[in-house]
Amino acid sequence: MDYLLLCVLGLLGSYGLNILYVSVFYHRALTHRAVTIQPWLRKIVLETGNWVTGIDPKGWVCMHRLHHKYSDTNRDPHSPLTSGIWRVLPMQLHSYKRALRGLVVGDRKYTSMVPDLDFPVSWLNRRKVWYLPYVLHAFLAICVGVFFQAWLLAACYWLGMMSHPVQGWMVNALSHRYGYRNFATDDHSKNNLMVAWLVFGEGFQNNHHHNPTAANFAVKWWEIDLGYALTWTLIRLGLLQRASVAGFPKIGSWQ
Ligand SMILES: [Zn+2]
Ligand SMILES: [Zn+2]
Repeated sequence: MDYLLLCVLGLLGSYGLNILYVSVFYHRALTHRAVTIQPWLRKIVLETGNWVTGIDPKGWVCMHRLHHKYSDTNRDPHSPLTSGIWRVLPMQLHSYKRALRGLVVGDRKYTSMVPDLDFPVSWLNRRKVWYLPYVLHAFLAICVGVFFQAWLLAACYWLGMMSHPVQGWMVNALSHRYGYRNFATDDHSKNNLMVAWLVFGEGFQNNHHHNPTAANFAVKWWEIDLGYALTWTLIRLGLLQRASVAGFPKIGSWQ
């Protein structure tokens, strides 16, 4: 296979794997319960999630529910309205760290956001070795470079695996600042087509804030949510199930 094509596939594969975990498993399934994950797969997702993405599933869900609860107010964990678009990058990182610490020490402000999650914060964060997944991916990339003399492929793999802060920034900053609105929600969420294409439907923030429990973030016929295409495929394969929100007790404004 042509080496450059292999590099592109390496980038798309690692980028897509990141989005699969964060957008489908963490966001649509664990946070909003738009779909449920088959129990055996859920165990695998919870065991591997922090290693694959570098991000703790419980910490991410907690921060994201706070975002829905306080969207674009002073208590929003990340909003370009209160900080400007560039500051959203450090803001989302600090908010994530605060959520993790709050969950570990049992702070009600954070634990009350995730009463339905029956699993603890990953041991990587409990034991303050959060950096190990990053070391692992750097090590794997260096191995690809050294043993196969394929440094471009190694860089593509590494960039795809480390892309989440940039994906998050595009969604949290750009899709709450630039775009159009289909719904008059209380926040400043927008639908940003560029972000929606790049981050598999997550750019349709206005649609999503209007109806957080919908598995499909697209509403108009010309809006395409690739994350929902992934979700739909996993439903067809029997790995996910459509959830009936009516069956869940209402526990917050993310429902
Ligand atoms: Zn939002
Ligand atoms: Zn959400």
